[in-house]
Amino acid sequence: MPRDPEDRRAALSRSLEEVRARIDAAARAAGRDPAEVSLLAVTKTWPASDVAHLVDLGLAEFGENKEQEGAAKADELARLRPGAAVRWRIVGRLQRNKARHLARWAHAVDSVDSERLVDALDRAAGNARDAGERSGPLAVLVQVSLDDAPGRGGASIADVPALADRVAQSEHLSLDGVMTVAPQHADPAEAFATFAELAGRVVAAHPGATTLSAGMSGDLEAAIEHGSTCVRVGTALLGAR
Ligand SMILES: *Cc1c(COP(=O)(O)O)cnc(C)c1O
Repeated sequence: MPRDPEDRRAALSRSLEEVRARIDAAARAAGRDPAEVSLLAVTKTWPASDVAHLVDLGLAEFGENKEQEGAAKADELARLRPGAAVRWRIVGRLQRNKARHLARWAHAVDSVDSERLVDALDRAAGNARDAGERSGPLAVLVQVSLDDAPGRGGASIADVPALADRVAQSEHLSLDGVMTVAPQHADPAEAFATFAELAGRVVAAHPGATTLSAGMSGDLEAAIEHGSTCVRVGTALLGAR
């Protein structure tokens, strides 16, 4: 993709239109209202200037994999677009020792997969509120591993209900729903169907936990067919990393 600012903005505008058209088509094919599916732009490895273009194009939610990279980008965006109402979500694996700093700038963590991480985030969000660094709770999605592959994060299906209960019971977190990354070398439709069934059980126990974050550049259609309410798109919007 071009680096000249005007060309870059035009390219991002085109790719955003294409992604929106894919989301619309997939939702309609599934008999769903496209407005039920939000678009989270995953901006990892891309500069804050790209986030600024996407803000100008109407996006307000951005995902980052790493605490440090996200914090720096959030800072820079605040300089580039002062007062812009954006929300940052962490979508990658998170070390517990990053929780305190993250609670200062992130709206949500989509990749919560252990009780120890839940407790660390609850403490961190409480400390950030006491220090006047955040006003609301930290939103949380429980990440589900559908194949228990090591290294990609996510809790085992059997552990998800208890983990969701723990988030819901914590003082400074709000349980928004569940997230998954489709396993490699598996049929994504089958994976997303399993995920949707699990999400249904979580929402039955916690009626506010309605977010199903599933689908990326390569498989967002299958995810939307199976009830995704949030697709996380990097490559199709911003280019190959
Ligand atoms: C990088 C990333 C994405 C975006 O993936 P693309 O294939 O580039 O759209 C989505 N979710 C998570 C958890 C990621 O790490």
